Amino acid sequence: MNGHLSNEQWEAAVLHQSNEAAVKHLADCAACRGEVKSFTGAAEAAQVQARKVMGQPETFWQQQREGISARVATRDFAHPRKRLIWVAATMVLILLASSLLSRNDAPPTPSMAQTDPDDALLLSVQQSIQSDLPQALRPAALLTAEMDRASEPR
Ligand SMILES: [Zn+2]
Repeated sequence: MNGHLSNEQWEAAVLHQSNEAAVKHLADCAACRGEVKSFTGAAEAAQVQARKVMGQPETFWQQQREGISARVATRDFAHPRKRLIWVAATMVLILLASSLLSRNDAPPTPSMAQTDPDDALLLSVQQSIQSDLPQALRPAALLTAEMDRASEPR
């Protein structure tokens, strides 16, 4: 035994459940302390970010929706498809933010380089909206419904 924290002790330290011996070792050993800190630091940053997204009241999402709608309305798009793509891109940002809530691993970033990036983007948004709809994405679904309504001939 090299005297450093065992796997169990390391796990307990990360979870703030260290026993006396582990606490003492962490106080004395910069190597273990640094390792635990780097892990808890990253985990806490992710939790804070997730809580921020999760903790937004309904009014926040309402404001987001209104803000996006307003920007869509005031933007002068030469082609209706471009307008739709712009909305899709905005929704992908919402998607990426909300993916923090359900996944630990990094979400796949939409590939902009190959194939038709517009189609890939629209497809990914469509798939996400058609799968189970997390709470955070409901504004995006409402937005697409509005876009559909807006594009119907009057
Ligand atoms: Zn150590």
